[in-house]
Amino acid sequence: MEIIRSVETMKNQCHDLMKRDKQVGFVATMGFFHEGHLNLMTRAKMENNIVVASIFVNPLQFGPNEDYENYPPDEEQDIILAKQAGVDILFIPTERDMYPNQMLISMSVEARTDVLCGRTRPGHFDGVITVLTKLFHIIQPNRTYFGLKDAQQVAVVDALITSLNFPIELIGIETAREDDGLAKSSRNVHLSNEERKEAVWIYKALMKGQQLVVDGEKNPAMIVKEVKNTISKHTSGTIDYVELVSYPRLTSLSAIDEQSILAAAVNFKKARLIDNLLLDKNGEMLNQYLQEEN
Ligand code: AMP
Repeated sequence: MEIIRSVETMKNQCHDLMKRDKQVGFVATMGFFHEGHLNLMTRAKMENNIVVASIFVNPLQFGPNEDYENYPPDEEQDIILAKQAGVDILFIPTERDMYPNQMLISMSVEARTDVLCGRTRPGHFDGVITVLTKLFHIIQPNRTYFGLKDAQQVAVVDALITSLNFPIELIGIETAREDDGLAKSSRNVHLSNEERKEAVWIYKALMKGQQLVVDGEKNPAMIVKEVKNTISKHTSGTIDYVELVSYPRLTSLSAIDEQSILAAAVNFKKARLIDNLLLDKNGEMLNQYLQEEN
């Protein structure tokens, strides 16, 4: 596995791969790898000649009171894990190389951000699409892999790729979970022992909501109420949101009659956790997302 830290070197390398007709799969990350990240890399390895993974904690996507400084780095371990997962090139640019000067262009997402995390994290997805546009141009991948744990991000990346005609296929991969069902996250290390036990109730509550849909409940408000009650009853965290909206458009639904997402965000003392389930129109769970058009 090659480690590249310079944008220029990465660009040259990828240009060369393209000339040699290699199919490139790309996984963007902020490091501190767990099974969720590694699944994306393994899948990319199955479908491409070359896998590029990046590690870059993008300052643009963190708000002033968010955990940018707190983001846990472990580069040494990440290098070992990426290699094991079959990554060919690990791209670890510096902030100075990614943003050498003040940005002369700003990008903003015009849809799919007035709900879920977009509502409480203003500017977050603008930062995400800005860094991804840069990374897509530097790496020029054929396919890119994102986790459905961050399903709103998948919907926004879908919009980015479609709206700006990136010749890239987007693949959304199922959420990796701990044995008890808690979604794996770099932020779980910030939970106290007690909070860690409670946190599984986010997933359990979403599952309870999903079961109601399968049983025939069509009213999103009823599902949301049940999920909120369950989370409040079993955790000390503060609910940021529980929402059930269409997917990937993320518009409100008066009745559950199309593909949707049931999602929750809960603030614990030092960690904000998110989780979701993607549902088909009958409430059955979907574990993959492929772009509809592009
Ligand atoms: P991050 O480093 O948090 O930016 O995540 C990098 C990629 O890994 C994103 O596409 C995430 O959605 C994905 N990811 C993070 N956690 C999980 C998980 N538990 N299951 C699946 N994908 C994940």
